Amino acid sequence: MVTKVAENIVKSLGQIRQNINAMAEQTTYRESVRLLAVSKKHSAEAIRVAYEAGQREFAENYVQEGVAKVQQLQALDITWHFIGPLQSNKTKLVAEHFDWVQSIDREKIARRLNDQRSGALPPLNVLLQVNIDNDPNKSGVKKSDINALAKFVSKCPHLKLRGIMTILEADTDEKQQLDSFTSMRELYQQLQQLHPSVDTLSMGMSGDMRQAIHAGANMVRIGSAIFGQRE
Ligand SMILES: *Cc1c(COP(=O)(O)O)cnc(C)c1O
Repeated sequence: MVTKVAENIVKSLGQIRQNINAMAEQTTYRESVRLLAVSKKHSAEAIRVAYEAGQREFAENYVQEGVAKVQQLQALDITWHFIGPLQSNKTKLVAEHFDWVQSIDREKIARRLNDQRSGALPPLNVLLQVNIDNDPNKSGVKKSDINALAKFVSKCPHLKLRGIMTILEADTDEKQQLDSFTSMRELYQQLQQLHPSVDTLSMGMSGDMRQAIHAGANMVRIGSAIFGQRE
């Protein structure tokens, strides 16, 4: 990898960690915020550079691409998250290779992942993807269906319910972002009352990280601000 590119990754990573910690300290929640490095469309080499700078959690969006990197980097102590849309015919690969899935939005996918997760592995950590604005064009479970899906997942022995995630439209303004993220925080706290295993609220990307942390995210998913623009 070109030295300059590697240097930029290390520098950006350090800067983002600093920003996250500074923002987290200013919230009323005062929780630490986990940084998930979104490595889709970037090479295994780029991941290795971030790893050597201390990053341990990485996320992929595409099954084939993600599995290839998981296998290539098997020797490293990485926690892998799957965050992309998931079709039924790809659940087996995800159940076999990932540690977390953040994009569960229906029972059928949860059931398949549970059936396909080997009992020899720890349970697969699961976040429900919430369509917080009830946008008909977007994937994610509707607010009114969260409790039923959470209940289903919590009864799956090979899955562990850890929380919820959301993706906002790229063109929403700051006020809308804050409103949506704040609703997510409320849903998260309600879910925690029902399911003690819930400890993760995943929201905020390179463009809206500040608003997400302000509203109470405890995991942010950052891609381009670490690795640069994707092809
Ligand atoms: C690509 C992606 C990210 C990271 O987006 P950036 O804008 O590059 O930080 C986060 N979450 C999901 C679900 C993504 O698909």
